Amino acid sequence: MSKEGMECSFCGRKKEETNLLIAGVDAHICDSCVEQAHGILSEEVLAVEDELGDDDKEKFEVKKPKEIKAFLDQYIIGQDQTKRTMAVAVYNHYKRLTQPNTLEEEVEIEKSNMILVGDTGTGKTLIAKTIAKMLNVPFAIVDATVLTQAGYVGEDVESILSRLLQAADYDVESAERGIVFIDEIDKIARKGDNPSITRDVSGEGVQQALLKLLEGTVVNVAPKGGRKHPDQKFTEVNTKDILFIAGGAFAGIQRNISKRLNRQAVGFGASLSEDRVDEKNLLQYIIPTDLKSFGLIPEIIGRLPILSYMNPLDKIALRAILTEPKNSLIKQYTKLFDMDGIEFSIQEEALDAIVEKAIEYKLGARGLRSLCEAIFTDAMFDLPSSDESSFEVTKSYIDSKLDKKLLNHLSVAG
Ligand code: ADP
Repeated sequence: MSKEGMECSFCGRKKEETNLLIAGVDAHICDSCVEQAHGILSEEVLAVEDELGDDDKEKFEVKKPKEIKAFLDQYIIGQDQTKRTMAVAVYNHYKRLTQPNTLEEEVEIEKSNMILVGDTGTGKTLIAKTIAKMLNVPFAIVDATVLTQAGYVGEDVESILSRLLQAADYDVESAERGIVFIDEIDKIARKGDNPSITRDVSGEGVQQALLKLLEGTVVNVAPKGGRKHPDQKFTEVNTKDILFIAGGAFAGIQRNISKRLNRQAVGFGASLSEDRVDEKNLLQYIIPTDLKSFGLIPEIIGRLPILSYMNPLDKIALRAILTEPKNSLIKQYTKLFDMDGIEFSIQEEALDAIVEKAIEYKLGARGLRSLCEAIFTDAMFDLPSSDESSFEVTKSYIDSKLDKKLLNHLSVAG
C-alpha cells in the first residue's frame, strides 16, 4: 500500500485526516481511535474494580493475627502478651463485622472489647492508636474522668461518640466501625467497697451509663458535642460494631492481686510455691476478679471481656523505644537534621545516658521525648545556619545539655 492510500483500520480516516497513524502488522490505527480505545479500557477496568470493591473492602481490614502483631511490632516495643491478645481480639472483632447478617440459629460472635491494665506511659494508647492506623478506621481517645452520669456537670457518655464522629469526618457508617480508647477507666471505679454510696456521680453512675454503649446500642449524638443548640439535628450512631479499648493504671491493684494469690496459695496447698510468683510484676497475674475488687462493677467487666496487662518499661525497653520503632525519636531527629543536609549520628553511650536519665528521674517513655527536645533544641537552632554537615552526639554533649535543674523540672512536669 502506498503511503497516501493508508487509512485507519478502525474508523477509516485517511492518513492525512489524522494527526498520527500507527502501523501494525496488517492494520493501522489513528490517534483518535487510540484515545477512544483507551477510554473504553479505563471504564472497563473501573467497572471491574467496582465489582471487586465491596468484597475487597471487607477483606482488606481483616489481617491475620500474626500480620496484625507484626504490624504492631513495628511501632511498639515489648508488650508481647498484649500484642498477641490484641491481635486475636481485633481479628475476631472484624471477622464478626464481615459476618453476613446472622440468622437466629447461627452462632453470633460477641464483641471483643478490651481492657488494658498498666502504668501510665507503657503504651496502652499507642497500641490502640496503632491498631486503628493499621485498620484505617476512625479512632477517638476519651478520658473517663471527664465523663459523668447524665444530668450532672461534665460530659455525658454520649460525648464519646461525638468525638468518634468527628474523627470520622461525620461519616456515620465509618464511625460505626471505629475504635474508641477510654483512658483512665480506673478513675471511675467505685470508691470504697460500699455499694450503698448512691451519689457516686463520677464512679458507679458513669460505669452504668457506659454499659449500653459498650454492648451495642443506638445513641442520638449531637454531632458537635455540646448541647447548646436545642434544635440541632441529632445523628443516630449504632455502637454495636465499635471496638472499645479501655485502659487504666489501676494504681495499687497489685495489692489485690497479691492478696488473692496468697489466698490461693493457702487454699490449694502452699506447694504451689510462692517463689514462682514474680513479685516484681504482679500485673501479669491479673484476672477479672481483681478489677472487681478494685471497684469496677461486674457488668462493666463483662462487657470488656478481654483483659491484658502492660509490662513496666525497663532500661532495655526504653533504649529500644529510642531507636527501634518505625518512627522512633532518633529516626525522627535523623530525618529532621538530614533535611538541612546535616548527617546526624549518636554514640551508643550517649543513648545509654539518655535512658539512664529517664530512669533516674522516673520520666518513663513519655519523658524520652522531652529529654530529646532539651538535648537537641540548641543544635536544631544553630546548625541550619552553620556550615556544619554533620552532628555527632556524644555522652558528654548529653551531659552538658541535661543539668539537674532541667531534669527536676521535667520530672515535675511529667
Ligand atoms: P499510656 O496510654 O499507657 O499511658 P502511651 O501509649 O500514651 O501510654 O505512651 C506514651 C508514649 O511513650 C507513646 O506515645 C510512645 O512514644 C512511648 N511508648 C510507650 N510505651 C511504648 C512501647 N511499648 N513502645 C514504643 N513506644 C512506647
